[in-house]
Amino acid sequence: MNEYDSARLAALLEFHGWLPAINTEKADVILVNTCSVRAKAEESAIARIKDLKPLKNHSKALKIGVLGCMAKNRGESLFKDLPFIDFALAPNEYEKLPQTLNSQLSTLNSKNIFAKLSNNYSTFIAIQSGCNMKCSYCIVPYVRGMERYREPDSVIREIEAAVAKGVSEVTLLGQTVNGYRCKGLSFAGLLKLVADVKGIERIRFMSPHPKLYTGELLEILLGEPKIAPHVHLPAQSGSNSILKKMKRQYTRENYLSIVEVLRSSNPLYGITTDVICGYPGETEDEFEETLMLLREAQFDSAFMFAYSSREGTSSALEKESLTEAQKKARLQKTIDLQHKITLERTKLMLGRCEKILLEKPSRRNSVEWVGKTGNFRKVIVPSQPNFREGMYVDCVIEGIKGHTLRGKVNG
Ligand code: SF4
Repeated sequence: MNEYDSARLAALLEFHGWLPAINTEKADVILVNTCSVRAKAEESAIARIKDLKPLKNHSKALKIGVLGCMAKNRGESLFKDLPFIDFALAPNEYEKLPQTLNSQLSTLNSKNIFAKLSNNYSTFIAIQSGCNMKCSYCIVPYVRGMERYREPDSVIREIEAAVAKGVSEVTLLGQTVNGYRCKGLSFAGLLKLVADVKGIERIRFMSPHPKLYTGELLEILLGEPKIAPHVHLPAQSGSNSILKKMKRQYTRENYLSIVEVLRSSNPLYGITTDVICGYPGETEDEFEETLMLLREAQFDSAFMFAYSSREGTSSALEKESLTEAQKKARLQKTIDLQHKITLERTKLMLGRCEKILLEKPSRRNSVEWVGKTGNFRKVIVPSQPNFREGMYVDCVIEGIKGHTLRGKVNG
């Protein structure tokens, strides 16, 4: 979501006459787009902003702005912790950015700004923002507000404009993306419209909520060939009692039934997830149930975290039952198990013929390229003279290095 916001902000600024700087040293303005989803994300953002302070000492004219959820979450206290920053804008204030910059920089002749732009072949499109779910541990509904949906026409227009610039892969974004509903159109209905856009070859979406899987959605996921066979489906826990405390609104059985449908149609359907270890009150048995879920679901990979309390959420009021060391030990056990499962799942790809989207030349070896399969696996292939970013090629998976696949493109 933040990458998407950064790209939109860059486009907005370019429209108002700003240019991307080649590096932070040459920038008149540095914007740091922040995430508040975990305490660690905020700590990383603060560290990154503090790293920018020496630049400010060199150039008094440099302006540093903090954008995103941390600006909303920390409010005025941000200026106490980071007194050298010039302004902060929350996600609902982005349209004020050009005006804020103009008032801050009225004396500057040049207009260089540092921002991350999306690539030419694949783009993110936000279709929904905010979240109505109120999971007990999550700060997102407090910083992003209630759910809002973009009109289908506006979504399709943005995709068509991206296709005109060479994009063929689109990732639809939303905090609970499959809860999309607008003008009588469901998420499944929107997927159909996106699949009909000429020039779109691969559709992804992030992040769906397990509670919001409908029969209609499963039908299009399995029936529309443009929809990539991969889903990031946050499980968080394998224990029904912990899921209830987390207010996730589904059971492990509901969750596993989605996995079953997807994998019975395609055993290599990529399923990745998020897991929180050591939620307040999590017993050894409840933790074991999470490990069992990992084994049963056979996730291709997972983002795994030790529980960290976020002020303002309802779980922050619950008494923590585990020490940091105990939470870390559970996290390590989860990571070790998932690594084994990931390796087993990776081996299943050997010998397969896969269509990959070429992304870029490998940074480690200039005679190799990096591509992605539909089920979201990274593949390294030997370079060929006609290779270019955004090209689809068929390759045979011949080997594995770590968790990365190595393939060969014929012809
Ligand atoms: S569904 Fe839950 S975890 Fe996801 S953004 Fe909403 S409140 Fe947070």
